Amino acid sequence: MSEYVFPPPPQAAAPVAGGGLFPVRRIFCVGQNYAAHVREMGGDPSREPPIFFTKPADSIVVNGADAPYPSLTKNLHHEIELVVAVGAGGAGIPADKALDHVFGYAAGLDLTRRDIQAEARKTGKPWDMSKGFDFSAPLGLIHPAARIGHPKTGRIALKVNGAIRQDGELADLIWSVPETVAALSTYVALAPGDLIFTGTPSGVGPLERGDVLLGEIAGVGEVRTKIV
Ligand code: MN
Repeated sequence: MSEYVFPPPPQAAAPVAGGGLFPVRRIFCVGQNYAAHVREMGGDPSREPPIFFTKPADSIVVNGADAPYPSLTKNLHHEIELVVAVGAGGAGIPADKALDHVFGYAAGLDLTRRDIQAEARKTGKPWDMSKGFDFSAPLGLIHPAARIGHPKTGRIALKVNGAIRQDGELADLIWSVPETVAALSTYVALAPGDLIFTGTPSGVGPLERGDVLLGEIAGVGEVRTKIV
């Protein structure tokens, strides 16, 4: 029998409200899924197919833990997002069956090195290092759909040091949760443990060391972190 040449990494995981840990397999994110945010980023909010990017599973920051200000950026941005936790896998999932694959929901933050992203967008290069860095995905408790249902409307907001920075509405998602799950499952076979960050409303902006972030999604929950 072959042995690992060094101990395998610990399983990335996120606490579930009411108990237990959700083992994180992969993190997918939707780019530009609220019209007002598409406009603030200089885009055209026409209903083009959703675009996806990824973060490493171990970029999760457990709720309430600190997030270090990352290297190689002078413009770290906050993006508050509804996060879908996949509980049952599948490929080619039809939208009208997609919610059967959802374990639950959380509030999350898609922290972004905006200056690196802007340069990548300008030059047509990959976004990876603007999005997929260490500690780039603070995540609130995962709330099972069995307890909270499947939120389709509700306020999604972010306070930084107590002041409102982002204030949106889930109903304004360009691609709904079922449509997003269906589209993503045409690119990859989804698996239990996958997380999907569904995009951010408008109001993104810079963060500094010492900033205290509180994201809240009505009917879902909250995410807290401090930039250190
Ligand atoms: Mn985002």
